Amino acid sequence: MTSLADLRSGFLEFFRDRQHAVVPSSPLVPRNDPTLLFTNAGMVQFKNVFTGAEKRPYSKATTVQKCVRAGGKHNDLDNVGYTARHHTFFEMLGNFSFGDYFKEEAITYAWDLITKKIGLPKDKLLITVYPEDDVARGLWKKIAGLSDDRIIGHESNLWAMGPVGPCGFCSEIFIDQGPNVWGGPPGSAEEDGDRFLEFWNLVFMQFEQVDENTRIELPKPSIDTGMGLERLAAILQGKTNNYETDLFRHLIAASVEFSGAKAEGDILPSHRVIADHLRASSFLIAEGVLPSNEGRGYVLRRIMRRAMRHAHLIGSKDPLMHRLVPALVAEMGEAYPELPRAQALITETLKLEEARFRETLARGLKLLDEASTTLGKGDTLDGETAFKLYDTYGFPLDLTQDALKSRGVGVDLAGFTDAMARQRAEARKAWAGSGEAATDTQWFSIVDELGKTEFLGYDTEEAEGTVI
Ligand code: ATP
Ligand code: MG
Ligand code: MG
Ligand code: MG
Repeated sequence: MTSLADLRSGFLEFFRDRQHAVVPSSPLVPRNDPTLLFTNAGMVQFKNVFTGAEKRPYSKATTVQKCVRAGGKHNDLDNVGYTARHHTFFEMLGNFSFGDYFKEEAITYAWDLITKKIGLPKDKLLITVYPEDDVARGLWKKIAGLSDDRIIGHESNLWAMGPVGPCGFCSEIFIDQGPNVWGGPPGSAEEDGDRFLEFWNLVFMQFEQVDENTRIELPKPSIDTGMGLERLAAILQGKTNNYETDLFRHLIAASVEFSGAKAEGDILPSHRVIADHLRASSFLIAEGVLPSNEGRGYVLRRIMRRAMRHAHLIGSKDPLMHRLVPALVAEMGEAYPELPRAQALITETLKLEEARFRETLARGLKLLDEASTTLGKGDTLDGETAFKLYDTYGFPLDLTQDALKSRGVGVDLAGFTDAMARQRAEARKAWAGSGEAATDTQWFSIVDELGKTEFLGYDTEEAEGTVI
């Protein structure tokens, strides 16, 4: 069972056989949670079930959940194109217990599935646990028969969906992909590499983070697990990079065909970014999120424009993204009928955005080149230029940062904020002078966002307004 379709159905079947209700994926735009930008894990749709606020007719469930991690607590936008394992859009396989089973069964199910049903080699697997979670450590020893050195205590094994909500200690399952892949085991200095690939996280839901300082016990200990479908597929297809699996090879082939740029050397990461961002953009548009200058729509615009910069970079003369939609629909349309249903909207939205961005993209990149030619590792681009790129050329700040990243050049964020504040003050003065009301509240709200930790991040009220 190595095709994506087989993996999805095989996983659901495994847990259905163990009396779990098979529940459909919830939308990417969470219906039950204004604090969350996008659904970033399988547990999101069950958040209120864990806390006891909502009741369901089942106490065990299994899902294949659409996820987007491009903002908020779990933001992988900056990883795409750089690691072998991160996407902005991905599918998460999960099993859940709402006050039913806890650690022992969760570990038993996971171990049976990966070693018996799927047949992963036991001697390549490693486990992490929260350092004080002796119960989990003991269970892994007992159930999996792993030696102490393969069960690693790690402070990061406390999983939370966001700043508030259900959370708990967790155990992550890693596979050692061998010395040809860069990286070290969890806890080592090289743990950010891809050699030791985390592919399944078992969260022992026990607490609810109510606010920054308050963590209370959940009514009943519960289980929430998440396994990345694309990572599992890569492992089973014998690939050490998600982007070398069937699905991505087909998307990248389309990108090669329509751009005319071979997928090799420096160009390969661009194709990967394009393929990844095509998925995220298309799934978001299929749910009615449209590119805009605020909230969720702005995150979508950032994803789209990052891909479009890469399309330009690899020499695509005309808008590229919309031409790749048929390949995506061919790959994923059966599992996700919302894609073919929204195909016309996705195509038009991508086409329009790319045509628009292309009006300023080349000139913006020229300005960026000129302003940064003398800069090298450790230098920063001045805030004035970054702001001009944002304001005049439609470059989201993170796009400018991404464009400079490979050279080790940063952006002067304080200077950017100043430039924006200055422009804002001038615009207000001009409006006051003309007697007109300041109607461009969107623009001001972006300025207001600057004080927050996540630049141009998520604001609940604005974001709600952008979603159809
Ligand atoms: P990593 O440490 O690799 O960033 P994570 O610890 O952030 O992963 P979890 O929050 O534990 O990931 O999510 C559960 C599982 O979902 C992961 O074990 C992985 O298989 C998958 N996953 C998480 N983030 C991504 C992503 N950006 N792209 C693809 N799969 C992902
Ligand atoms: Mg992560
Ligand atoms: Mg991790
Ligand atoms: Mg994890």
